[in-house]
Amino acid sequence: MNLNTIREVRQPASADEIVKWRDGYAWLAGGTWLFSTPQIATDTLIDLRSLRWPALEASAAGLDIAATCTIAELYAFQAPANWTAAPLFHLCSRAFLASFKIWNAATVGGNICMSLPAGPMITLTVALEGRYTLLPRDGAPREVAAIDFVTGNHANVLQPGELLRNIRLPASALRKRFASHRSSLTHLGRSAVFLIGTRSADADDLLLTVTAATPRPVQIRFDRAPSSEELRHAIDARIPAEGYFDDVHGSPAYRRRLTYYYAEQIRAELANSGAAG
Ligand SMILES: Cc1cc2nc3c(=O)[nH]c(=O)nc-3n(C[C@H](O)[C@H](O)[C@H](O)COP(=O)(O)OP(=O)(O)OC[C@H]3O[C@@H](n4cnc5c(N)ncnc54)[C@H](O)[C@@H]3O)c2cc1C
Repeated sequence: MNLNTIREVRQPASADEIVKWRDGYAWLAGGTWLFSTPQIATDTLIDLRSLRWPALEASAAGLDIAATCTIAELYAFQAPANWTAAPLFHLCSRAFLASFKIWNAATVGGNICMSLPAGPMITLTVALEGRYTLLPRDGAPREVAAIDFVTGNHANVLQPGELLRNIRLPASALRKRFASHRSSLTHLGRSAVFLIGTRSADADDLLLTVTAATPRPVQIRFDRAPSSEELRHAIDARIPAEGYFDDVHGSPAYRRRLTYYYAEQIRAELANSGAAG
């Protein structure tokens, strides 16, 4: 849609050019959300594409994903063979309610900064133990763990003007086995529940990530594979009955039941199988 409150679109060559932040400014990534609804409080868009950050950089340490990397670019990434968790890039990219526009324009960083419960790039980067680099307007860069970034539905730790620069996924997490389950009430709809479990190749551990079912991601770590009962107790200890998200995509009771069900399936799959899920 046309945003008739916008008076200026800035195209900086470096994020440092934007020194002073004021009300009315907004970073523009793919624009798929920004242009989908009136932005009456915004008069200036600052286009991140002009920063020309390389989308993806793989190394022995892991994968660096620029915030401006598009979903299509992430989907096309060819991962090293020993990154057994890399199929999650495809699974999570396909978890959008995605039109052609979303697929080709939406960015990984834009999805994370929207901080919706059904943000699949949040699911992906939390499950793969990512760390985000944030650039404040008036200070040194800071790092946060992906699990600590989203604080609620459409809420996160970004300060005014702070920019998400980069997401780093460590190779140790990319080499894990995984199992995942997702549910949506409608075909190609938003996720109601999206769970991923990962397990180290040489250990009996389990890292369970619960998203979409809750307003913000919840992660439960087990040093050794839990029993069904231990898993259920751990979920209840971390997510009380009233802690599940409630919207048109699913009631809290529905999301809670599916969380138990999928978590148990993930537990069993990772305990029983030697192959990636
Ligand atoms: C039809 C449709 C379907 C959608 N389906 C889904 C869905 O299934 N799941 C979901 O989570 N969302 C969905 N969305 C919402 C949104 O389009 C996506 O979250 C998308 O990934 C946002 O990315 P973008 O690059 O287009 O962000 P933009 O629209 O450009 O920006 C989104 C917000 O993030 C801020 N921002 C962007 N990048 C940065 C950055 N690097 N640092 C700081 N702030 C930043 C912007 O200022 C803005 O406030 C949907 C939207 C539409 C219109």
